[in-house]
Amino acid sequence: MTNKVYLIDVTNKSEDNIPQKIQTLYETTQFNDRIQKNDNIAIKTQFIESHDTTYIKPEYIEPIIESIKEKEASPFLTDTNTLFNGKRSNTDKHLEAANEKGFFDLNIPLIIANNTPADEIEVKISKAVFDKVKVAKEIYDSDAMIVISHITGHTLTGYSGAIKNTGSGCATRNGKIEQHKLAAPFISRIACLACNVCIDLCPEEAITVDSIAHIDYDKCIGCNNCISDCPTDAIKLNKIKSEEYMKAVTEYAYGAIENKKDKTLYINILLNINPDSDCNSYDQNPIVDDIGILASYNPVAIDQASYDLINKQEGNENSMLKNNHDPEKDKFKGLWRNIDSYFQFDYGDEIGLGSKKYNLIKI
Ligand code: SF4
Ligand code: SF4
Repeated sequence: MTNKVYLIDVTNKSEDNIPQKIQTLYETTQFNDRIQKNDNIAIKTQFIESHDTTYIKPEYIEPIIESIKEKEASPFLTDTNTLFNGKRSNTDKHLEAANEKGFFDLNIPLIIANNTPADEIEVKISKAVFDKVKVAKEIYDSDAMIVISHITGHTLTGYSGAIKNTGSGCATRNGKIEQHKLAAPFISRIACLACNVCIDLCPEEAITVDSIAHIDYDKCIGCNNCISDCPTDAIKLNKIKSEEYMKAVTEYAYGAIENKKDKTLYINILLNINPDSDCNSYDQNPIVDDIGILASYNPVAIDQASYDLINKQEGNENSMLKNNHDPEKDKFKGLWRNIDSYFQFDYGDEIGLGSKKYNLIKI
């Protein structure tokens, strides 16, 4: 697998013509040479909650769609429903969120791919955590795929990029439960105020509160819905569980693309690099300045390169970044001190999802 990672700078969003730059980047990857007339091309992106303004805009994707159409192939937009309660937890709400953000204006099919159990395919991978993974069938059955990811921090993985978007985003609901079960949080007895806030946040009624909150692990699906709104940060994820979750997601990424490894292109958007995922309901200040947009056929290399480029920057004092503001310091560790984000790149390299070594080519 090639370890080339292409980078196009975007230093000023208001002046730079981002769709034009994405077109240049896309043409540089020569993805159209890898696809055939009439191929079904999945464009895996995220349609995001209605409050968010830093999501991947439809106009960023438009030049890619036009180029694929010139090849007489058939692109479709796709994502899967989330486990947590939000605007994308069922298909009707998810389509509404996509419509609100203008994705229907792109005039290509938009498929929420994990609607029913029949939409699931089990892919044999024989790895340490999973023997088989449960992937959304319409994504798996596509002839080629473009995974477009907005790079942010993340409560469970520290850094979130191509591996997370592929591994979690192509999994069915059952697959997501399988992954998240490994990442069930725990309650800090010292920090819990018994305020009851978390009870209503739990979609599985797994939390009860007496003098402190308790989680019923037979019911908990590890969605981590309860973590972010706890007023005292009493609901936590430990390092081992985070690594188990990263392993699970990385194995799922491996399974999701195993039938089209050389026909999956990854595009990482390093603009508005928020401390937490776009799914969150609070306003976020980016942790570093905008960097640009990357593309590669190697999901591990593109994530390692994205992570390195972000860490080279000076941290934004007005963000959630608690430590590691200096250039070369790990910004994601400065956000989520219990999580070693690079574990997902190490593991992706180890299981053959891709290679951590990369050749960064500026265009
Ligand atoms: S939200 Fe936090 S502080 Fe309140 S009961 Fe739940 S764990 Fe305890
Ligand atoms: S207790 Fe478990 S199922 Fe309930 S919100 Fe928290 S992580 Fe999700």
